[in-house]
Parts: sequence; C-alpha cells; structure tokens
Amino acid sequence: MCGILGICGQEDVAGELLQGLTAIQHRGQDAAGVVTLDKLFSLRKGLGLLSHVFGDVTPADLPGRCGLGHVRYATIGSNDVLDAQPIVANYPFGMAMVHNGNVVNFTELRRTLYDEHHRLLETSNDVALILYTFASELETKNLKALTPDDIFDAVTATQHHVLGAYSAICIIANVGFLAFSDPFGIRPIVMGRKYTAHGIEYVYASESVCLDFLGCERVCDLAPGEAIFIDTQQRIHRRICRQEQQAFCVFEYIYFAREDSIIHDRLVAHERLALGRRLAARCRARGLQPDIVIDVPSSSYFFAAGLSEALGVPYRRGLAKNNHIGRSFLAPTQETRELLVRQKLNPIAGVVAGAKVAVVDDSIVRGTTSKYLVTLLRQAGAAEVYFLSAAPPIRFPCVYGIDMSVRREIIAAHCSLDQIHEYLAADAVLFQELDDLKDLYKDLPCCFACFTGVYPTGVSAELLAQIEQERVCSMRL
Ligand code: AMP
Repeated sequence: MCGILGICGQEDVAGELLQGLTAIQHRGQDAAGVVTLDKLFSLRKGLGLLSHVFGDVTPADLPGRCGLGHVRYATIGSNDVLDAQPIVANYPFGMAMVHNGNVVNFTELRRTLYDEHHRLLETSNDVALILYTFASELETKNLKALTPDDIFDAVTATQHHVLGAYSAICIIANVGFLAFSDPFGIRPIVMGRKYTAHGIEYVYASESVCLDFLGCERVCDLAPGEAIFIDTQQRIHRRICRQEQQAFCVFEYIYFAREDSIIHDRLVAHERLALGRRLAARCRARGLQPDIVIDVPSSSYFFAAGLSEALGVPYRRGLAKNNHIGRSFLAPTQETRELLVRQKLNPIAGVVAGAKVAVVDDSIVRGTTSKYLVTLLRQAGAAEVYFLSAAPPIRFPCVYGIDMSVRREIIAAHCSLDQIHEYLAADAVLFQELDDLKDLYKDLPCCFACFTGVYPTGVSAELLAQIEQERVCSMRL
C-alpha cells in the first residue's frame, strides 16, 4: 500500500507536496519521494519516513508548479531506493508517475515491454510497468499534436494490458497533468482544487485528508476506470476509459485509510462506527456481556465506540500505546513481531483488572497481536477477555496491495474458528460476519477477496503462487 499526491498550480508546489504527504504518511513508511517539473524534473527520494528523507531539503531545492509525491509501503519489489517513487521517463515526453496498488501480471508485462517495446526496466517496482506501458501507447500517437483523446486512448490501452489495482498520477511535460484508476477502482483516488491569488490549483490524492490539510475543496473521487486530464491551459477533460464492475477495497475502510478521510462520500470514522454496531448485535446473540469495551489503538477507536454505544457498556482506554515503536506487523520474524507488540501496547491494569473486557481490533491476520493482547490483559487482571475482530476472518491473500499475500502466514487460511479460539486463548473470539459487512456495502460494490477468495480481476492459482513466492523472496521474509 502507498500514498500518492499530485499538485498542479500557478506557484511552486514543493512546500505543499511535502506538507500534504505528511497527512498520508500512515499509508507508507518504507520510502518517500517527490518530483517537481520546472524546465527539468527535480527528483528526491529515499528510504524511510518523510522527515528522514526530506529533513535537509527545502522547497527551493524542488522548483516547479507541478509535482508528485509518494510514500511507499513495499509489497512488491525490494525495499531499495531504486524502487521508491516517483519515477521519471524521457520518451516520448518527459513523464513522471506515482501509483498506489499492485500490478498482478508483472512477469507478462515485463516480457512484453522488453520483447515488443525494447524497454529494459531498471527497477522491480510495478509503477515502471504502468509508466512504460502508457509511454509505449502514447508513442503510437501523433506526438506533434497530441490530443486529450489520444491520452485517453493510451490510458484505455494501458488499462487493457495492466491487470491489478492501481491509482496513478502522471505529469506529461508541457502536455498536462493526468490521473487514472484501474477498471475496478480498487484503490482510492480523489480530486480537489483551490482558488489562490494566482489562479486555480488542482490536486489528486489517495485520501481526502490531504485536501483538508492543503485547504482544498473535494471535487470528486475518480470512478472505476476513469481518467482526468488537465491540460496546460487548465482545461479539464474526463473520460471513463475502461470500466468493470466496481470493486473498491473494503479494507481501506476497515484498516488502511485515516478516520477523517471521506472516500466515495463515506466518512471512514462513520464506517467504523457502523462496523462496531454490527459487532454489538453479534455479541448479544452470543450472550457475551462485557463490563467494558476497549480498543487496540490507534485504528480501532471507532469500532469500539460503536460497539460500546450499541451494547450500552462503557468504553475505556485499556491499552496504552507507545507511538515511537515501528510497525510490528511488518517486522521480519515472529520473534521480533511479538517483541514489538509487547513494547508497543501496555494494558492499563487499573482499568481492566477484575473486569470482563471486550477488546476490539480491526483484524486478525497472523494472530500475533491478538494472542499477545489476550495474555497481557489476563496478566493485568482482566476477569475475562473477549477478542473481537471488526473484519471477518481473513482467509485469502491480498494481491492488490495490502501486505498479506503469504497464505501460510494468515491464521484463518489454515485454522478453523475453534482452532483460532484455542490459539488466542481468549474466553471468546468473535469476528464480523461477512454478510453484515456485505450488507453495509450493498450500495458500494467492494472487493472482499481477502475474505472470499473471489478476485475481481481474476487470478489463477499459478499467479497466486507466483505472487506469494515473490513476497517470500523479498527482503521481509
Ligand atoms: P496480526 O498481529 O498479524 O494478527 O495482525 C493484525 C494487526 O496488524 C492488527 O492490529 C492490524 O491493525 C494490523 N494490520 C492488519 N493488516 C495490516 C497490514 N496489511 N499492514 C500493517 N498492519 C496491519
């Protein structure tokens, strides 16, 4: 998963890009980068947090009225600076691109780009596959008089060739500023604008929090398969290029996006409240009667709020979080993951001691966090511990950019609910019901592949095995 931001205005944009990216730092902490276009592209990227990569960079180092920014969470490719985004190409135009998502048919695309277009890619990052496929399609047009229709045709052909989830932003030097999404609209991308003393500034971003931060109004989310092109005269051109049945990633609402983002007109915080309320109904049906509801900070507050309101049971902050510990989920070994969970989360004994505690987290993937929390809460004196997952059991790998692509690591892929209960050693374990989740999204067709194994783009067993193998070989495992 990654965060992307693009700004095109009438003044230098680097300062705003750097600020705006901080609002989506949660989407990626492995690498960060910014490119701006003046007469030439100025590109800076490096490994780590924005503050680390851009600590000694001033906006004056990145001149230009149009630019792109990226924060990376590596799921495909190594965590090498070469794989950080943005990337630039210089033919048939000066072009720069960032994207969020995962390309599924990377081997085939890489081969086609080499065999048919003689492009030998220097990175293993899939944004290069998208950029060079798009560039190869543009190359077939009349480059002296490129029209918006030519650009949209090239996007349509790119969408035809590139299988997977992608929201992309692209600068085409002296031509315009483009954003497009994959035909299923799996990853979020929103357009915003603001009126400044110098004219209009247009923004494309992964999440609307960037727009809030930059003082922009939200114009629209891109529809599945849609492309929006802003030419050098700031005229806006739009086309639905190649569209399939929408399949927006429901895990964005459950875990990935910030609570204050609005995606497809739904505030993430409200979605989480609703999921918490659904859990409450299941809790009652199971006869569970907790004394308090606590959340696993920070993503689960609204689930817990919805649950506690609907149950009429008080919400308490029962776990203190150390915000200076890295993400335990991404640590390479089980031992380090366990140690990090221990360092990151500490039960507040005075709150949980003697109480029947319902603890709610967004999801159970490997079971590391949940198992440790159950033990820690018991040690802190909880009388009973009920572990609740706001997501249904995750049983299948995600091939669209959420870092859970290795099946053997996913507990519900190979254990029954009883076995999970036993492993976690909780007094009760409760998952969101898939039907409840689907019911909440009956008006917004979503991708539920990690719960159902039904992949909107279609993925063969061989491809799944290949994607898993790629992940296993990458540096984390
Ligand atoms: P686990 O400990 O492996 O069961 O993972 C569940 C925990 O990791 C939950 O607390 C989630 O908030 C978090 N989580 C779930 N999915 C991801 C992901 N793809 N990347 C990072 N963290 C995640």
